[in-house]
Amino acid sequence: FEYLDKRLEDGAPGPVGVLFLDLDRLKALNDFLGHKAADSYLCRIADRLSEGSESDDLVARLGGDEFVVVLSGPSSPAEAMKRAEVLQEVVGASVALGGQTVGRGVSVGVALGTPGQVGSATLLSRADQAMMVVKRQGGNGVGVFTDDMNEKGDRRTIIEMNLRTSIDDDHLTLEYQPEIDLRTGMILGVEALVRWNHSPLGLLQPGEFVEVAESTNLAGELGEWVITRACAQLAGWKREIPGLRITMSVNVSPVQLVSLDFDATVKSVLRRYDLEGSELCLEITENVVVGDLQRTRDTLRRLERLGVRVAIDDFGTGYSSLGHLKSLPVDTLKIDRGFVQNLDHSEEDRVIVDSIVGLASSFGLRVVAEGVESTGAVRELLDLGCVRAQGFLLSRPATPDRLVGMLRAGRIRLPWSPEGGVGARRSMARRCREPF
Ligand code: C2E
Ligand code: CA
Ligand code: CA
Repeated sequence: FEYLDKRLEDGAPGPVGVLFLDLDRLKALNDFLGHKAADSYLCRIADRLSEGSESDDLVARLGGDEFVVVLSGPSSPAEAMKRAEVLQEVVGASVALGGQTVGRGVSVGVALGTPGQVGSATLLSRADQAMMVVKRQGGNGVGVFTDDMNEKGDRRTIIEMNLRTSIDDDHLTLEYQPEIDLRTGMILGVEALVRWNHSPLGLLQPGEFVEVAESTNLAGELGEWVITRACAQLAGWKREIPGLRITMSVNVSPVQLVSLDFDATVKSVLRRYDLEGSELCLEITENVVVGDLQRTRDTLRRLERLGVRVAIDDFGTGYSSLGHLKSLPVDTLKIDRGFVQNLDHSEEDRVIVDSIVGLASSFGLRVVAEGVESTGAVRELLDLGCVRAQGFLLSRPATPDRLVGMLRAGRIRLPWSPEGGVGARRSMARRCREPF
């Protein structure tokens, strides 16, 4: 800090380049090799950093597995990036440690500061933020701090600080997006999608805060709120609309699924609102399934006993774990919207959707397409035998008030005419492989 303060004094030559390095997954090394071996690994990394830097650079260890290099002399962004890439390679090369070969990736954040304009704490925190972005994108890479990140960083800090106290009915809301039978327009179910009405930031989409919840141990609380709210809503609709029979789909965070009492929570919520297990569908992502297979399997089995349905969300984008399909109690594959949006223009997407539909059929699973935005995509889906779908073309996510009318009607008006448009050539799906 003393050195950096001096370098950043008004009138000193600049810009000053700072590299913030953080080893990826050091914890696993500690766990498998023990702390002593991990310590000597850190020493080797320190040596390599010193050897890989120029003699006038300052190389420091901040603590844990965090290192900082202050580049000597003024540097341009391009130079700083180049130096960061060199160090990333040097540090990332594997090390021989007591008969084992160990290699960790390293995430490097780069920031530049003009002397007189920025203090050392700010400059370090910027390099740290750039490093965190690299980490979040999978690690082992180099990233540079941008002004845009400053704004996002502040936003994230605000979100992080407010989330715990905002998990309640006054701040969070659910919107619901219908799942439709493409042949008839019938509403088969709805998916609950969480929103956060934040002042002063405004209405936040889940993309901005679900991940924050996951990384701050709030995923359980948020998830419980969502399931409770969604089930209460379904019970309310059922009272208002006698005979209503739809599935409520709820997105579940990976963290929730491996928590020990998750199925107990689900059970008590179902009982509280007098719902059957089969009226609830939990959407999990493929990645989570790979994460902790045994625990996931146990939880899913207990949920299965409650009759709760399970869908694999964004299917096709994860570390395709086809083998797990046969060992996990799963009901539904939800085709990722990336394969659906341009279905009528992309032969590759068509092949992928065709295979997923085939796979679902072989395993006796339902298949749902999401991200239907055009009648062209609808035509292709029907042609491929996928009749359940969700998407902006059919309905955007809507507030409960707006949904109740649709639910009363039981169906939506299809945005194409059954005689003229999509259905003309194929009044029914050509190969309807839907098992339900
Ligand atoms: P998802 O599970 O894939 O949810 C579908 C997302 O796609 C929703 O975005 C929805 O608004 C959007 N979408 C639906 N139809 C279309 C379409 O035709 N075109 C396009 N471009 N998009 C469409 P949203 O509400 O922003 O949710 C984003 C993600 O956040 C969800 O992706 C889900 O992974 C997560 N999420 C939402 N609610 C919850 C929740 O309660 N808990 C958890 N853990 N995650 C949630
Ligand atoms: Ca989903
Ligand atoms: Ca999805």
